[in-house]
Amino acid sequence: MMLYQKSAAELSYMLQNGECSAAELLTQVHSRMEQLEPELGAYLTCAEDCMQQAMAVDAARARGEQLHPLAGIPIAIKDNISTKNLRTTCGSKMLEHYIPPYDATVIRKLRDAGMVILGKTNMDEFAMGSSTETSYFHPTRNPLAHDRTAGGSSGGSAAAVAAGEAVLALGTDTGGSIRQPAAFCGVVGFKPTYGSVSRYGLIAYASSFDQIGTFSRTVRDAAMLTQLLCGHDPMDATSAQRSYPDFAAELMPEIHGLRIGIPKEYFGSHVQDDVKSVVSAALHRMEQMGAQLVEISLPSTEYAVNAYYILACAEASSNLARFDGTRFGYRAQGCTSPAQLYERTRSEGFGREVKRRILLGTFVLSAGYYEDCYLRARAAQRSIAQELHEALRCCDLIAAPSAPEPAFLLGERLNHPVQMYQSDLCTVPANLAGLPAISIPCGSVDGLPVGLQLLGRPFGERTILNAAHAYELEVQNAAV
Ligand code: GLN
Repeated sequence: MMLYQKSAAELSYMLQNGECSAAELLTQVHSRMEQLEPELGAYLTCAEDCMQQAMAVDAARARGEQLHPLAGIPIAIKDNISTKNLRTTCGSKMLEHYIPPYDATVIRKLRDAGMVILGKTNMDEFAMGSSTETSYFHPTRNPLAHDRTAGGSSGGSAAAVAAGEAVLALGTDTGGSIRQPAAFCGVVGFKPTYGSVSRYGLIAYASSFDQIGTFSRTVRDAAMLTQLLCGHDPMDATSAQRSYPDFAAELMPEIHGLRIGIPKEYFGSHVQDDVKSVVSAALHRMEQMGAQLVEISLPSTEYAVNAYYILACAEASSNLARFDGTRFGYRAQGCTSPAQLYERTRSEGFGREVKRRILLGTFVLSAGYYEDCYLRARAAQRSIAQELHEALRCCDLIAAPSAPEPAFLLGERLNHPVQMYQSDLCTVPANLAGLPAISIPCGSVDGLPVGLQLLGRPFGERTILNAAHAYELEVQNAAV
């Protein structure tokens, strides 16, 4: 097996035992990128100093320094996370030439741990989308089926990990943008509890839902990286003040006696039949492993997509007001008044989907519509969250498909926004309730991977990771 195919945990072991160097590993990942990038388009910007980063880790190891287990592991970063001196575009013309003057907190943590930052990955513009096709630059192709999308909005990160163009990646999940692309590309995607990972330096889409999380090829790798990312940050007012268990060290294949709720609303007619069968088979397997499956009902789920899009667009319309040509990013030339500068900058700098959402968000917040739209969406959000929290009082986890279908064809939904929005129905409830959730590969339909989603209690990352790890081991053992 080539180095780029191995998990971060295996590579960490090999690096610590001198079986390979960070520079060798990086060279392999780079040649993989050279070979595949022209076709896949997972990256937007490559970091020029990667080899220096890798060699610095090798030198520190040679000096006998104590290094973090992830030191020397190459990681790709979604392009809405600020990286000092490394272009950060959010997939938009608006930020095409933007070079942040500071690192996001998560980036500082990766650098402190000695991880090798490979570059920035493609995404839907400002994280608005489910297919990575609204990127201003180019779409990303699914590495497993080049005529299909990699999912979105973190499609570049998911594709990079799936294709061996990175060992790990960071993504962000506002309404499913980690879990859905992970499912489409056949990798593990983990969105921790809202507030557990600092959002400082993440360019906001919908601040009350946005959460940074991980892409990896194994659950153990997700645990290792999440371990590094979690923690209170005084720079983020929504960051939780608490301590976290050592997810990686305490990772155990624990599933026996676990009560897993199966909400019937997630297995309705909107979910493709063969996806339902694959997910049900995975759940049956968990039952054989000792879990107890409990049928539950979450009736407010039917309002989730509508509520999410109203609330997310409302927040986006406010967050994106800062892109006006006066402070950073694109600036329209030859304007004769501030009003003209704002209008032309925003008309020329934003793509169609972003404009659609700013308009929708402004509309639902305007006098006369605020009560009818925004407040009703907030009420729906409360019911959805309440039902989930109640269900999680009697269940340890809730299981569902990660997406209603496997990866769809490129171009298929680009001109059908409502159909595109509908594809988020399995993922948005976790964001509306701030809950942690993972997507793990659980089988395939016509050769396309299907994701199993596990949702947990607030700050119940450990239970999710342990159950997902147990399932993953069981599948691996059955395959050998
Ligand atoms: N597809 C959803 C949206 O477009 C979710 C995006 C996300 O999680 N960033 O809003």
